[in-house]
Amino acid sequence: MSNESVPASGASAGVAASEKPLSDGTASDDDVLLRVENLVKHFPVRSSNLKLGGSRDVVHAVDGVSLELRRGETLGLVGETGCGKSTLARCVARLYDITAGRIIFDGRDISRLSARRMRPLRKDIQIIFQDPYGSLNPRRRVGSIIGDPFAIHHIARGAERKQRVQHLMELVGLNPEHYNRFPAEFSGGQRQRIGVARALAFTPKLIICDEPVSALDVSIQAQIINLLSDLQGELGLTYIFIAHDLSVVRHVSNSVAVMYLGKVTEQAPVEAMWAHPRHPYTDALLSAVPIPDPQSADKRERIILAGDVPSPINPPSGCRFHPRCPKAADRCIAEVPELEPKLGDEPTHLAACHFPVEDGEDISKSQPSISANQRVIETGLVAGS
Ligand code: SF4
Repeated sequence: MSNESVPASGASAGVAASEKPLSDGTASDDDVLLRVENLVKHFPVRSSNLKLGGSRDVVHAVDGVSLELRRGETLGLVGETGCGKSTLARCVARLYDITAGRIIFDGRDISRLSARRMRPLRKDIQIIFQDPYGSLNPRRRVGSIIGDPFAIHHIARGAERKQRVQHLMELVGLNPEHYNRFPAEFSGGQRQRIGVARALAFTPKLIICDEPVSALDVSIQAQIINLLSDLQGELGLTYIFIAHDLSVVRHVSNSVAVMYLGKVTEQAPVEAMWAHPRHPYTDALLSAVPIPDPQSADKRERIILAGDVPSPINPPSGCRFHPRCPKAADRCIAEVPELEPKLGDEPTHLAACHFPVEDGEDISKSQPSISANQRVIETGLVAGS
Protein backbone atom coordinates (compact mmCIF):
# COMPACT_ATOMS: atom_id res chain seq x y z
CA MET A 1 0.00 0.00 0.00
CA SER A 2 1.25 3.45 -0.86
CA ASN A 3 0.73 5.63 2.17
CA GLU A 4 0.51 9.36 2.55
CA SER A 5 1.76 9.20 6.10
CA VAL A 6 3.56 6.42 7.86
CA PRO A 7 3.52 6.32 11.66
CA ALA A 8 6.58 5.65 13.69
CA SER A 9 6.40 2.24 15.28
CA GLY A 10 7.65 0.23 18.17
CA ALA A 11 7.75 2.98 20.80
CA SER A 12 8.39 2.07 24.40
CA ALA A 13 5.63 1.40 26.85
CA GLY A 14 4.15 3.80 29.36
CA VAL A 15 1.30 6.26 29.75
CA ALA A 16 1.00 8.91 32.40
CA ALA A 17 -1.80 11.25 33.34
CA SER A 18 -2.34 14.13 35.70
CA GLU A 19 -4.88 16.83 36.40
CA LYS A 20 -1.94 19.27 36.28
CA PRO A 21 -0.17 20.45 33.14
CA LEU A 22 2.32 17.79 32.17
CA SER A 23 4.89 19.93 30.42
CA ASP A 24 5.52 23.24 28.78
CA GLY A 25 3.79 21.81 25.70
CA THR A 26 6.88 21.50 23.54
CA ALA A 27 6.40 17.72 23.38
CA SER A 28 10.12 17.14 23.42
CA ASP A 29 9.58 13.43 24.03
CA ASP A 30 9.43 11.97 20.50
CA ASP A 31 7.69 8.85 21.76
CA VAL A 32 4.63 10.83 22.82
CA LEU A 33 2.10 11.07 20.01
CA LEU A 34 -0.69 12.76 21.95
CA ARG A 35 -0.61 15.00 25.00
CA VAL A 36 -3.84 16.40 26.42
CA GLU A 37 -3.54 19.09 29.08
CA ASN A 38 -6.40 20.12 31.36
CA LEU A 39 -8.94 19.66 28.58
CA VAL A 40 -12.34 21.17 29.28
CA LYS A 41 -15.44 20.82 27.11
CA HIS A 42 -18.68 22.46 28.25
CA PHE A 43 -21.88 22.54 26.24
CA PRO A 44 -24.24 25.46 26.92
CA VAL A 45 -27.88 24.36 27.17
CA ARG A 46 -31.07 26.38 27.15
CA SER A 47 -32.35 26.92 30.66
CA SER A 48 -36.11 26.75 31.21
CA ASN A 49 -36.11 29.94 33.31
CA LEU A 50 -33.85 31.95 30.96
CA LYS A 51 -36.62 34.45 30.23
CA LEU A 52 -37.05 35.05 33.95
CA GLY A 53 -33.45 36.09 34.30
CA GLY A 54 -31.99 32.66 34.98
CA SER A 55 -28.47 31.93 33.80
CA ARG A 56 -27.70 29.62 30.91
CA ASP A 57 -26.95 26.07 32.07
CA VAL A 58 -23.78 24.30 31.12
CA VAL A 59 -23.17 20.57 30.64
CA HIS A 60 -19.76 19.78 32.13
CA ALA A 61 -18.98 17.00 29.65
CA VAL A 62 -15.19 16.98 30.18
CA ASP A 63 -13.61 18.85 33.08
CA GLY A 64 -9.84 19.13 33.32
CA VAL A 65 -8.60 15.89 31.77
CA SER A 66 -4.89 15.38 31.09
CA LEU A 67 -3.22 12.36 29.56
CA GLU A 68 -0.38 11.18 27.38
CA LEU A 69 -0.33 8.46 24.76
CA ARG A 70 2.84 7.03 23.30
CA ARG A 71 3.24 5.88 19.71
CA GLY A 72 2.25 2.30 18.97
CA GLU A 73 0.25 1.94 22.20
CA THR A 74 -3.41 1.69 23.14
CA LEU A 75 -5.13 3.75 25.81
CA GLY A 76 -8.45 2.30 26.96
CA LEU A 77 -11.10 4.81 28.02
CA VAL A 78 -13.86 3.34 30.18
CA GLY A 79 -16.84 4.58 32.14
CA GLU A 80 -20.63 4.57 32.18
CA THR A 81 -22.69 6.19 29.44
CA GLY A 82 -22.47 9.97 29.75
CA CYS A 83 -19.13 10.01 31.59
CA GLY A 84 -17.53 12.08 28.81
CA LYS A 85 -15.29 9.50 27.14
CA SER A 86 -16.73 9.93 23.64
CA THR A 87 -16.76 13.73 24.02
CA LEU A 88 -13.10 13.63 25.05
CA ALA A 89 -12.27 11.54 21.98
CA ARG A 90 -14.15 13.90 19.68
CA CYS A 91 -12.31 16.85 21.19
CA VAL A 92 -8.98 15.11 20.53
CA ALA A 93 -10.04 14.59 16.90
CA ARG A 94 -11.10 18.26 16.87
CA LEU A 95 -14.63 17.34 15.81
CA TYR A 96 -15.59 19.62 18.72
CA ASP A 97 -14.00 22.94 19.58
CA ILE A 98 -12.64 22.79 23.11
CA THR A 99 -13.61 25.14 25.93
CA ALA A 100 -10.17 25.22 27.56
CA GLY A 101 -6.93 23.28 27.75
CA ARG A 102 -4.49 22.10 25.11
CA ILE A 103 -4.11 19.21 22.69
CA ILE A 104 -0.58 18.53 21.48
CA PHE A 105 -0.62 16.04 18.62
CA ASP A 106 2.63 14.80 17.09
CA GLY A 107 4.48 17.73 18.63
CA ARG A 108 2.03 20.35 17.37
CA ASP A 109 -0.54 22.33 19.33
CA ILE A 110 -3.83 21.65 17.49
CA SER A 111 -6.10 23.01 20.25
CA ARG A 112 -7.39 25.95 18.29
CA LEU A 113 -6.55 25.24 14.66
CA SER A 114 -9.23 26.40 12.23
CA ALA A 115 -11.14 23.81 10.17
CA ARG A 116 -9.00 24.75 7.15
CA ARG A 117 -5.72 24.25 9.01
CA MET A 118 -6.98 21.01 10.57
CA ARG A 119 -7.86 19.54 7.20
CA PRO A 120 -4.41 18.14 6.28
CA LEU A 121 -4.16 16.66 9.79
CA ARG A 122 -7.46 14.78 9.44
CA LYS A 123 -5.57 12.07 7.55
CA ASP A 124 -3.58 11.41 10.71
CA ILE A 125 -6.50 11.15 13.17
CA GLN A 126 -9.29 8.78 12.24
CA ILE A 127 -12.33 7.45 14.08
CA ILE A 128 -13.97 4.03 13.88
CA PHE A 129 -17.55 4.44 15.03
CA GLN A 130 -19.65 2.17 17.19
CA ASP A 131 -22.47 1.46 14.79
CA PRO A 132 -21.30 -0.29 11.63
CA TYR A 133 -24.86 -0.08 10.31
CA GLY A 134 -25.43 3.63 10.86
CA SER A 135 -21.95 4.77 9.83
CA LEU A 136 -22.21 3.43 6.25
CA ASN A 137 -24.46 4.96 3.61
CA PRO A 138 -26.68 2.04 2.49
CA ARG A 139 -27.06 3.50 -1.02
CA ARG A 140 -23.37 3.64 -1.82
CA ARG A 141 -21.15 0.80 -2.94
CA VAL A 142 -18.48 -0.35 -0.53
CA GLY A 143 -15.69 0.56 -2.92
CA SER A 144 -16.75 4.19 -3.03
CA ILE A 145 -17.30 4.31 0.77
CA ILE A 146 -13.78 3.05 1.48
CA GLY A 147 -12.44 5.33 -1.26
CA ASP A 148 -13.98 8.45 0.35
CA PRO A 149 -10.75 9.61 2.05
CA PHE A 150 -8.92 9.51 -1.31
CA ALA A 151 -11.70 11.53 -2.93
CA ILE A 152 -11.82 14.08 -0.07
CA HIS A 153 -8.08 14.68 -0.19
CA HIS A 154 -7.91 14.49 -4.02
CA ILE A 155 -5.48 11.59 -3.95
CA ALA A 156 -5.53 8.73 -6.47
CA ARG A 157 -8.23 8.46 -9.10
CA GLY A 158 -9.79 5.78 -11.31
CA ALA A 159 -7.89 2.52 -11.49
CA GLU A 160 -5.28 3.62 -8.93
CA ARG A 161 -7.96 4.43 -6.36
CA LYS A 162 -9.69 1.12 -7.00
CA GLN A 163 -6.41 -0.71 -6.54
CA ARG A 164 -5.78 1.07 -3.23
CA VAL A 165 -9.30 0.38 -1.99
CA GLN A 166 -9.04 -3.30 -2.87
CA HIS A 167 -5.71 -3.46 -1.06
CA LEU A 168 -7.39 -2.00 2.04
CA MET A 169 -10.21 -4.54 1.73
CA GLU A 170 -7.68 -7.33 1.62
CA LEU A 171 -5.82 -5.87 4.60
CA VAL A 172 -8.94 -6.05 6.80
CA GLY A 173 -9.97 -9.50 5.60
CA LEU A 174 -12.65 -8.54 3.07
CA ASN A 175 -12.85 -10.06 -0.38
CA PRO A 176 -11.63 -7.36 -2.82
CA GLU A 177 -13.99 -8.77 -5.42
CA HIS A 178 -16.88 -7.46 -3.31
CA TYR A 179 -15.86 -3.92 -4.22
CA ASN A 180 -19.19 -3.20 -5.93
CA ARG A 181 -21.48 -4.59 -3.24
CA PHE A 182 -23.72 -2.51 -0.98
CA PRO A 183 -23.35 -2.47 2.83
CA ALA A 184 -26.56 -4.48 3.26
CA GLU A 185 -24.88 -7.41 1.52
CA PHE A 186 -22.33 -7.69 4.36
CA SER A 187 -22.67 -9.08 7.89
CA GLY A 188 -22.26 -6.85 10.98
CA GLY A 189 -18.63 -7.88 11.47
CA GLN A 190 -17.85 -7.32 7.81
CA ARG A 191 -19.42 -3.86 7.96
CA GLN A 192 -17.18 -2.95 10.87
CA ARG A 193 -14.22 -4.17 8.76
CA ILE A 194 -15.38 -1.72 6.09
CA GLY A 195 -15.22 1.03 8.74
CA VAL A 196 -11.71 -0.09 9.71
CA ALA A 197 -10.60 -0.13 6.05
CA ARG A 198 -11.91 3.42 5.55
CA ALA A 199 -10.04 4.60 8.65
CA LEU A 200 -6.82 3.02 7.43
CA ALA A 201 -6.75 4.76 4.04
CA PHE A 202 -3.72 6.92 4.89
CA THR A 203 -2.30 4.80 7.73
CA PRO A 204 -3.27 7.40 10.34
CA LYS A 205 -1.03 8.12 13.29
CA LEU A 206 -3.94 7.88 15.74
CA ILE A 207 -7.14 5.85 15.45
CA ILE A 208 -9.96 6.49 17.90
CA CYS A 209 -12.06 3.35 18.25
CA ASP A 210 -15.37 4.53 19.72
CA GLU A 211 -16.98 1.36 21.12
CA PRO A 212 -16.12 -0.48 17.88
CA VAL A 213 -17.48 -3.85 18.99
CA SER A 214 -20.36 -3.08 21.32
CA ALA A 215 -22.97 -3.28 18.53
CA LEU A 216 -21.66 -6.66 17.37
CA ASP A 217 -22.47 -10.24 18.37
CA VAL A 218 -20.06 -11.62 20.96
CA SER A 219 -18.81 -14.19 18.44
CA ILE A 220 -17.88 -11.40 16.01
CA GLN A 221 -16.35 -9.09 18.63
CA ALA A 222 -13.22 -11.23 18.98
CA GLN A 223 -12.63 -11.14 15.23
CA ILE A 224 -12.66 -7.33 15.14
CA ILE A 225 -10.51 -7.05 18.28
CA ASN A 226 -7.97 -9.45 16.81
CA LEU A 227 -8.03 -7.57 13.52
CA LEU A 228 -7.28 -4.29 15.29
CA SER A 229 -4.46 -5.94 17.28
CA ASP A 230 -2.95 -7.48 14.15
CA LEU A 231 -3.09 -4.16 12.29
CA GLN A 232 -1.45 -2.41 15.22
CA GLY A 233 1.43 -4.88 15.15
CA GLU A 234 1.74 -4.69 11.39
CA LEU A 235 1.40 -0.93 10.90
CA GLY A 236 2.53 0.46 14.29
CA LEU A 237 -0.86 2.11 14.89
CA THR A 238 -1.76 4.04 18.04
CA TYR A 239 -5.27 3.63 19.42
CA ILE A 240 -7.62 5.27 21.86
CA PHE A 241 -10.06 2.46 22.58
CA ILE A 242 -13.38 3.49 24.11
CA ALA A 243 -15.51 0.79 25.69
CA HIS A 244 -17.62 -0.02 28.69
CA ASP A 245 -16.67 -3.70 28.60
CA LEU A 246 -13.63 -3.91 30.84
CA SER A 247 -12.64 -7.38 29.68
CA VAL A 248 -12.27 -6.06 26.13
CA VAL A 249 -10.32 -3.03 27.35
CA ARG A 250 -7.96 -5.24 29.32
CA HIS A 251 -7.32 -7.38 26.26
CA VAL A 252 -6.42 -4.53 23.92
CA SER A 253 -4.94 -1.76 26.08
CA ASN A 254 -1.50 -0.91 27.46
CA SER A 255 -3.08 1.45 29.94
CA VAL A 256 -6.57 2.43 31.03
CA ALA A 257 -8.21 5.69 32.08
CA VAL A 258 -11.49 5.42 33.99
CA MET A 259 -13.81 8.40 33.61
CA TYR A 260 -16.69 9.48 35.80
CA LEU A 261 -18.81 12.56 35.20
CA GLY A 262 -16.27 14.33 33.01
CA LYS A 263 -13.16 13.55 35.04
CA VAL A 264 -10.50 10.85 35.02
CA THR A 265 -10.82 9.06 38.36
CA GLU A 266 -8.03 6.55 37.86
CA GLN A 267 -5.38 5.84 35.26
CA ALA A 268 -2.78 3.10 35.22
CA PRO A 269 -1.01 0.46 33.16
CA VAL A 270 -3.63 -2.18 32.56
CA GLU A 271 -2.29 -4.95 34.82
CA ALA A 272 -1.63 -2.53 37.70
CA MET A 273 -5.24 -1.35 37.47
CA TRP A 274 -6.57 -4.91 37.61
CA ALA A 275 -4.23 -5.96 40.41
CA HIS A 276 -4.69 -2.87 42.63
CA PRO A 277 -7.73 -0.76 41.77
CA ARG A 278 -7.44 2.31 44.05
CA HIS A 279 -10.59 4.24 43.25
CA PRO A 280 -13.84 2.78 44.66
CA TYR A 281 -15.50 3.37 41.28
CA THR A 282 -12.84 1.29 39.48
CA ASP A 283 -13.18 -1.38 42.16
CA ALA A 284 -16.94 -1.49 41.57
CA LEU A 285 -16.56 -1.71 37.80
CA LEU A 286 -14.04 -4.53 38.12
CA SER A 287 -16.21 -6.42 40.59
CA ALA A 288 -18.86 -6.68 37.84
CA VAL A 289 -16.49 -8.27 35.32
CA PRO A 290 -17.22 -12.01 34.98
CA ILE A 291 -14.37 -14.29 36.11
CA PRO A 292 -13.96 -17.51 34.10
CA ASP A 293 -12.71 -19.42 37.18
CA PRO A 294 -15.80 -20.44 39.29
CA GLN A 295 -13.76 -20.73 42.52
CA SER A 296 -12.36 -17.19 42.27
CA ALA A 297 -15.76 -15.88 41.16
CA ASP A 298 -17.42 -17.36 44.27
CA LYS A 299 -14.95 -15.55 46.53
CA ARG A 300 -15.47 -12.11 45.03
CA GLU A 301 -18.35 -9.90 46.16
CA ARG A 302 -20.04 -7.66 43.63
CA ILE A 303 -19.95 -4.00 44.69
CA ILE A 304 -23.38 -2.50 44.09
CA LEU A 305 -23.26 1.25 43.55
CA ALA A 306 -26.06 3.40 44.91
CA GLY A 307 -28.19 5.52 42.58
CA ASP A 308 -27.45 6.73 39.07
CA VAL A 309 -24.83 9.03 37.59
CA PRO A 310 -25.81 12.60 38.59
CA SER A 311 -26.51 15.27 36.00
CA PRO A 312 -23.39 16.79 34.40
CA ILE A 313 -25.23 20.14 34.47
CA ASN A 314 -24.87 20.35 38.22
CA PRO A 315 -22.12 17.93 39.27
CA PRO A 316 -21.70 17.15 42.98
CA SER A 317 -19.21 19.19 45.00
CA GLY A 318 -15.81 17.84 46.03
CA CYS A 319 -15.41 14.34 44.69
CA ARG A 320 -18.09 13.91 42.03
CA PHE A 321 -18.49 10.27 43.00
CA HIS A 322 -19.43 11.01 46.63
CA PRO A 323 -23.24 10.51 46.36
CA ARG A 324 -22.64 6.91 45.24
CA CYS A 325 -19.42 6.00 46.97
CA PRO A 326 -19.46 3.36 49.74
CA LYS A 327 -16.44 5.05 51.38
CA ALA A 328 -17.66 8.67 51.20
CA ALA A 329 -16.84 10.93 54.17
CA ASP A 330 -17.23 14.66 54.90
CA ARG A 331 -13.90 15.49 53.30
CA CYS A 332 -15.14 14.01 50.00
CA ILE A 333 -17.94 16.61 49.83
CA ALA A 334 -15.68 19.57 50.57
CA GLU A 335 -12.46 18.81 48.74
CA VAL A 336 -11.75 17.81 45.13
CA PRO A 337 -9.29 14.89 45.22
CA GLU A 338 -6.08 15.21 43.18
CA LEU A 339 -5.25 12.60 40.55
CA GLU A 340 -1.95 11.28 41.91
CA PRO A 341 -0.16 8.07 42.94
CA LYS A 342 -1.65 6.52 46.11
CA LEU A 343 -0.40 4.03 48.70
CA GLY A 344 3.12 3.86 47.26
CA ASP A 345 2.00 3.02 43.71
CA GLU A 346 4.22 3.63 40.70
CA PRO A 347 4.13 7.18 39.26
CA THR A 348 2.14 5.82 36.29
CA HIS A 349 -0.70 4.61 38.56
CA LEU A 350 -2.87 7.57 39.52
CA ALA A 351 -6.15 7.79 41.41
CA ALA A 352 -8.34 10.72 42.46
CA CYS A 353 -9.55 9.62 45.88
CA HIS A 354 -9.09 10.78 49.49
CA PHE A 355 -9.54 7.25 50.84
CA PRO A 356 -8.13 4.88 48.21
CA VAL A 357 -8.88 1.17 48.30
CA GLU A 358 -6.08 -0.74 50.00
CA ASP A 359 -4.72 -4.06 48.74
CA GLY A 360 -7.09 -6.83 49.87
CA GLU A 361 -9.74 -4.38 51.14
CA ASP A 362 -13.33 -5.47 50.47
CA ILE A 363 -15.56 -2.41 50.11
CA SER A 364 -18.70 -4.35 49.14
CA LYS A 365 -20.04 -3.99 52.69
CA SER A 366 -18.65 -0.50 53.37
CA GLN A 367 -21.06 2.22 54.39
CA PRO A 368 -20.47 5.95 53.79
CA SER A 369 -20.05 8.10 56.89
CA ILE A 370 -21.99 11.02 55.38
CA SER A 371 -25.71 11.40 56.04
CA ALA A 372 -28.45 10.33 53.64
CA ASN A 373 -29.30 14.00 52.97
CA GLN A 374 -25.75 14.60 51.85
CA ARG A 375 -26.16 11.81 49.32
CA VAL A 376 -29.17 13.32 47.59
CA ILE A 377 -28.51 13.13 43.88
CA GLU A 378 -29.88 15.16 41.03
CA THR A 379 -32.97 13.00 40.55
CA GLY A 380 -34.10 13.86 44.08
CA LEU A 381 -33.55 10.26 45.17
CA VAL A 382 -31.28 9.40 48.02
CA ALA A 383 -28.45 7.25 46.74
CA GLY A 384 -28.74 3.79 48.19
CA SER A 385 -32.29 4.18 49.45
FE1 SF4 B 1 -15.23 7.90 47.51
FE2 SF4 B 1 -14.30 9.99 48.84
FE3 SF4 B 1 -12.68 8.57 47.30
FE4 SF4 B 1 -14.54 10.11 46.21
S1 SF4 B 1 -12.79 10.80 47.42
S2 SF4 B 1 -14.06 8.06 45.64
S3 SF4 B 1 -16.20 9.87 47.67
S4 SF4 B 1 -13.71 7.86 49.15
